[in-house]
Amino acid sequence: MYDVKFVYAVFGLIYVPEEKKKVVALLSGGLDSQLAVRMMQEQGFDVSAVAIKTPFCDFDCGRGCGFEIRERADDLNVNLKTVYLGDEYIEMLKHPKHGTGAGFNPCIDCRAMMFEAAKKHMEEIGAEFIISGEVLGQRPMSQHGPALRTIEKESGLVGKIVRPLSGGLLPSTDAEKEGLIRRENLGMIRGRTRRNQLDMARKYGIENPPNAGGGCLLTDPAFGLKAKDLFSHTETPTINDIDLLKIGRHFRLDDQTKLVVGRNKNENEVIKAIALPGDILLEVRDHVGPISILRGSGASQHTEFAASVTVRYSDAPKEESVTVVVTKNDSNKEVSSKRAREESYLKFRI
Ligand code: SF4
Repeated sequence: MYDVKFVYAVFGLIYVPEEKKKVVALLSGGLDSQLAVRMMQEQGFDVSAVAIKTPFCDFDCGRGCGFEIRERADDLNVNLKTVYLGDEYIEMLKHPKHGTGAGFNPCIDCRAMMFEAAKKHMEEIGAEFIISGEVLGQRPMSQHGPALRTIEKESGLVGKIVRPLSGGLLPSTDAEKEGLIRRENLGMIRGRTRRNQLDMARKYGIENPPNAGGGCLLTDPAFGLKAKDLFSHTETPTINDIDLLKIGRHFRLDDQTKLVVGRNKNENEVIKAIALPGDILLEVRDHVGPISILRGSGASQHTEFAASVTVRYSDAPKEESVTVVVTKNDSNKEVSSKRAREESYLKFRI
């Protein structure tokens, strides 16, 4: 059997290789989406990746979702486009059409937005379809059959999403009907076990496959409570409000006002950095302790109480009055305060 290039050369012809068909992958950085990419590359497709970042899924948070995405794309040898869903994501989260899961995770609406972003990229680069690492039955809210179909409808991608890991168990897609892919080359993985994926990772030489991702912050029950509280008290939360949700101990003092108390040096620094005009910062002057932030239209009337909670989480001796520095809009004042008693503040904890 002669190599096709050799045959062309013998007859003095220029060999123009047939262009590979393009597909777009939604890449999360987790193992499943990497495997989906490898499967499509193995079937001769030119894969480009889209990674989605939201205010709740920080690529650097180390929680699995989107972690080390750039390195993963390089390992897979795919182009990577990162799309940030910011204000529109917050808008969606105010009233997710398909509700939220056990935390505050609007998985169906969220996935639909992600696929919409991938669809735009698909149209831009002239790709044939979109792939994702979704596995049938792996996640309770968004990866059962009806949810997968809802996501396709909501994103305007009916027939255009191929889920290579479970494709053998799902209805045929346009790609299959048009003969671009074959059912026997699709996986039949179902459920939460990762045994099949780990076998595949070995086959594809994916070293140190990432653990099953911890998911985004919205699936975390404790974070979910804080997010729910924020969205039920603020018409349109800002990215700054959401950054504040990620740190500290949170106390809802009234409908308009919250107190957040730093838990360590890093959080204290973040609190200082994200404080806005009108926010009140509190810090015990002569003892190691937190920086606290009072935010909201009723902040001033809670200063005394916030000072006592700040003392409570500091190293100040019990029962001793200490000085708390209160800063608002670059002006400082000092107040004297004693440690708050548990019964006075725990009831406000979110
Ligand atoms: S876990 Fe978070 S990022 Fe993933 S689909 Fe649900 S809401 Fe979206």
